[in-house]
Amino acid sequence: MANPVLIAKVGMIVLTDEKARKAIGWVLVAVLSPLILLIAFLCSLGSGASGHNASAVEVCFNGAAIPASAPAEYRACLESMRSSLALVDTAVSTINTQTEEGTSLDAVRVKACFYALYFGAESQGDAQTLADCFVTYEERTRMVPVEGSDPPAQTEEKYTVAVPITDTEAVWQNIAATMVVTPTAEQRANADSIYSLVKYGWAGSGTGGIWFGDIGEPVLSVDGFCSPLGSGWRSRVTSEFGWRNCPYHGRELHSGLDMSAATGTPIRAALSGTVTKSCRTNSYGNYTVIDHGNGMTTAYAHQSGRLVKVGDTVTVGQVIGLVGSTGNSTGPHLHLEVRVNGSLVNPRSYLP
Ligand SMILES: [Zn+2]
Repeated sequence: MANPVLIAKVGMIVLTDEKARKAIGWVLVAVLSPLILLIAFLCSLGSGASGHNASAVEVCFNGAAIPASAPAEYRACLESMRSSLALVDTAVSTINTQTEEGTSLDAVRVKACFYALYFGAESQGDAQTLADCFVTYEERTRMVPVEGSDPPAQTEEKYTVAVPITDTEAVWQNIAATMVVTPTAEQRANADSIYSLVKYGWAGSGTGGIWFGDIGEPVLSVDGFCSPLGSGWRSRVTSEFGWRNCPYHGRELHSGLDMSAATGTPIRAALSGTVTKSCRTNSYGNYTVIDHGNGMTTAYAHQSGRLVKVGDTVTVGQVIGLVGSTGNSTGPHLHLEVRVNGSLVNPRSYLP
């Protein structure tokens, strides 16, 4: 269990005002619920004079220095987690010597889980046992030449292959079965958030949300337009751009392209640009607009979480939000709009 004293202390600081936080030297960025576990990983330790802040995740995952101002108890949590994550790294490396070419286990995934399960806990689980929850081991056979045989002969050899499990649910079931813990919904959500934070540098600006699933590399058209939902967008389209019959308004212009995806699916910026709008409206829900210059803007509606704020510079393919069903929406989807010189155009013309 998480240390209640530590949580109470940190929680208290969250509730105090900006000045108080600065005075104590902690800067907290709370972007998503549940608050308490969040605090454990988004709590930044201010090192006042230098102006540098290192979040607990940076300390544990990226080797950032623990500021001198960190309370002893918190320092102990960080140090303990950091050395445990090193053991997880070793365990994953061992597993990856047994995977087949082209597949590997993502150490960050395993470490994010470990962190979510054990940060601030009195005792931590075994790194290797946890890492083993992310793979299945298959016995296979292959033919190998018999050394020194004349004429050349082959013999059957058994070997073990580690196959990374892609089904997150199955991984959590393995963890529940072997780690003597019952991962809570909070811990599972936190594992996803930590993963995205480490992997994609999600800085916690905006409204937060729970990141769902892993996404591949950005998929770009020849013109450099990135598909916000990756390669499979065509099969996700649920409503086309253009005139349609609306049950509420009769004939209406559908101003964007609707693509369904699970709540929390990361949304990538179509092009590099500057965020000009990040707000929540009744119709669009959580809504972000990016200005790409040359008269072109893209907009992303109905998000469960906005991860960038007005004024942010974003690069093409950067995750800027998470799919949701906020605003006037009947199910989780991304409503993508493209405007050229203020006029709506069909996003299909740009998508890869
Ligand atoms: Zn729409």
